[in-house]
This record gives sequence, C-alpha cells and structure tokens, in this order.
Amino acid sequence: MNVTIFNEYHPNEQSGKAAKTYPGGLHKTLAELFGQLPDVQIRTATQEEPVHGLTDEVLDSTDVLVWWSKDWHNELLGSVADKVASRVLEGMGAVFLHSGKNSKPFRKLMGTTCATNPNVRAGEGGETEKLYVCCPSHPIAEGFPNGYVLPNEEPYCEYFDIPEPDETIFMGWFGGGSAVRAGVTFRRGAGKIFYLQPGHETYPVYHDEVIKRVLLNAVRWATPTRLAAPAENLSKAKTSIKSKIFKFLK
Ligand code: ZN
Repeated sequence: MNVTIFNEYHPNEQSGKAAKTYPGGLHKTLAELFGQLPDVQIRTATQEEPVHGLTDEVLDSTDVLVWWSKDWHNELLGSVADKVASRVLEGMGAVFLHSGKNSKPFRKLMGTTCATNPNVRAGEGGETEKLYVCCPSHPIAEGFPNGYVLPNEEPYCEYFDIPEPDETIFMGWFGGGSAVRAGVTFRRGAGKIFYLQPGHETYPVYHDEVIKRVLLNAVRWATPTRLAAPAENLSKAKTSIKSKIFKFLK
C-alpha cells in the first residue's frame, strides 16, 4: 500500500511553536505513524516542491492521500487540485485534516465553501475538545473512548458548510460551548474520503495515542476497494480454462 502525506509546510510551521510541536513538520510525525501499517510505502510532499511534490507519478501510485494545509490554499496549483480530485473519483482514498477542509481539492470534492462559523475564534491556548462517537459500528471509531477529551484544540463551530456526510463519526464539543461535526465520511466516485477536524499545528494532537488510532483506522478504511474482473471476462476465462482442460483430456 502506498500512503502519501501532503503537508503545506508554510514557513509559519517551520519555526516557532508549530516547529516545537512537530519538529521537521507534522508530515514527519504522520509518516512515522503510518509507517506502522503493514506492507506500506510512505511518501511525503510539501507545497514548496515542484508541483507541490504531487507529480502524476506520485498521485497515480497513491492508495491513500493524507492532506494537511492552512496558509497557502490560494497558491496551490489548480491543475494539482484537479488531479487530486480526479484520482479520488478513480478510487484513491483521501484523509483531509483540520484546516485542510479549506484546500482546493477538498472544496472541489464537496462542491461547497467548507467554511465553519466565522464568529468563533480561538483564544490563546485553545479550548478543551470533547469528542463523542456518533457511529459506534464504524471501523474509524474502533477502539475510541466515547467522550474523550483533547486538552487543547482550536474551536471550530457549526454551521460547517459541507454536504450532508455519508456518515458522521465524531461530534466535537468545545470548552467555550461551540460544537462541530469533527469526523465525517464521504464517498465520491470510487473513492472514500474522511475529514478529521482536530489537528491545529501548535497543539500536539497528532502525538495523542487516541487520535493516532483514529488516523490509522481512517487510512485503513480509505484504502481503495479492489474489485474482481468483470463477470463477463470471468465467464470467458472459465470457458477458455474448460476448453484447455478438454483439449488436455482428449
Ligand atoms: Zn488551526
């Protein structure tokens, strides 16, 4: 399985509090995490690389793309956003994280603004976020302790302008009183998409063992579903095997 992690890695992330939280960038932390999956090849890509590190070769061979971005959404090449969206329709899995909801590929796949309530602003230090499971049978919620509290996260709030999700896995409730759909799934074409709201770059959310488990579950879930050969070809194949056996018996 090939997992590609795209992290915008803006200079704001390369220094200061974000760099202390994620030395070398949060793509490095996520690469170490997803490296635990069996038979996995991990690649990372950042926005400053040519075509943002997302060449046709990389995207065509990616099974699941994990995406974090925040400050350079407008600077992302439209051609790359289009290619990411097309690959999802063809079956590539995608896991969008936190402010990655505002990225061109996510908005293209949703067809809405993906904006959250602009009147809710994070104070210094963020707020607690209590996460409730809304879909306990879902594989992404496997092992999740209902009502789990992250001590510091940036509050997001409804209305969150996304289409009605296929499944709402988590609801997030913040210390300041705001609430948001914090984990949602969508199917687009042959591809599966998961969005996870927690993950502001200055809080150690992706070092949290419970969130790490959610991320691993999400990548496993988003892995493309492999279909068998079309039935018509199968029956042709059976006929040709039968005729070979018949010839052999003769
Ligand atoms: Zn944030």
